[in-house]
Amino acid sequence: MIPFSPPRIDQQIIDEVTAALKSGWITTGPRTKQFEKEITKYCGCKTTVAVNSWTMGMQVLLDWWGIGEGDEVILPAYTYCASANVIVHSGAKPVMVDINGEDFNIDVAQVREAITERTKAIIAVDIAGFPCDYTELNTLIREPEIVALFKSDNKLQDKLGRILLISDAAHSFGAIYNGKNAAIAADISSYSFHAVKNLTTAEGGALCFNLPDNYDHDHIYKDFCTRILHGQNKDALAKTQKGNWRYDVEEPGFKCNMTDLQAAIGLVELSRYQENLDRRRAIFEQYDQAFANEGWAITPLYANDQKKTSYHLYLLRVQGATEDQRDEIIQEIFEQDVSVNVHFQPLPILTAYKKRGYRMDAYPQAYENYANEISLPVYFDLTDEQVMRVSEAVKNAVSKVLEV
Ligand SMILES: *Cc1c(COP(=O)(O)O)cnc(C)c1O
Repeated sequence: MIPFSPPRIDQQIIDEVTAALKSGWITTGPRTKQFEKEITKYCGCKTTVAVNSWTMGMQVLLDWWGIGEGDEVILPAYTYCASANVIVHSGAKPVMVDINGEDFNIDVAQVREAITERTKAIIAVDIAGFPCDYTELNTLIREPEIVALFKSDNKLQDKLGRILLISDAAHSFGAIYNGKNAAIAADISSYSFHAVKNLTTAEGGALCFNLPDNYDHDHIYKDFCTRILHGQNKDALAKTQKGNWRYDVEEPGFKCNMTDLQAAIGLVELSRYQENLDRRRAIFEQYDQAFANEGWAITPLYANDQKKTSYHLYLLRVQGATEDQRDEIIQEIFEQDVSVNVHFQPLPILTAYKKRGYRMDAYPQAYENYANEISLPVYFDLTDEQVMRVSEAVKNAVSKVLEV
């Protein structure tokens, strides 16, 4: 069976994790601090905070920004549930909008329609690793009429004086926007280092900050280190200094710091990340070629003059297939010992969001893209021969089900 997305675990990873174990320091410590610095350098952002998942990083971020009851956060209907769950937990209302269609990203015209005086933030999701329309989003949130609508609730929001633009960059580590790392295209970019993501730490995540210069990013970094560790103003490493045992808690915090065992994996992953991206790009190109002459194949958009993907997911669509036929095609692919997936079931399909009154028919483009979508395996260890086998399995399955 060709798996969908196994992590790249080799001797180098095992050696680094073993070294971390033997160092005697297994929670947040020197490796986590180094990992944060290297992410900052790689992304070109102002500061980075490593956490134990995208989800908890975002939860702390929404809390820090003062987002809660009575507020609204705009996001696409087409994303993983985590993007919306954190908004629900914050107490704010997730306001969903439809996607572009040509790519799977949030439609900026519909974001404009959705903005109210309660809108505090936009979470734009770089689906599959392809960056959203950040120039348009950045322009929109600075338009005088949109700024005039904005109501600030606290000092942090005052300083910005407009809607906060957050990138759900769970898929897009290393993507390019306007010739630069896409991490700096939004005010804050949030990464996931979950086991299936491009760069993994088993579980993990990072917040990359690019707020305007009137924010003190060193202060933000220190503040977040406290907020992700119960609100404790000294971490375990600081407390190992002679006599430095006493700490204070000014506000109850969260608990979602990254460990040095996770950072050990991340440091190796980051040191060879370009090699990973290059392999992924080659796989994307091989799939493009394999489906170039198939009339039914809608291959994904993943690069243009302005943007380049991180090659996270290859989102193939089968023109004319209904949702049921797509499901049948997937079954046929699995019968040939190839694992594929669907990214994603739009949020209104899920019970939790149906119950909250979201309706799938309000997001026709999201449904259309979802109904005939099949995600193909993409990972460093996938061989050319396996890519061929995947492509053949998909073609056979489509021929069988659609009789083309
Ligand atoms: C994986 C994923 C997340 C959640 O990441 P975790 O690190 O598992 O919390 C959020 N958004 C998107 C789009 C994802 O794919």
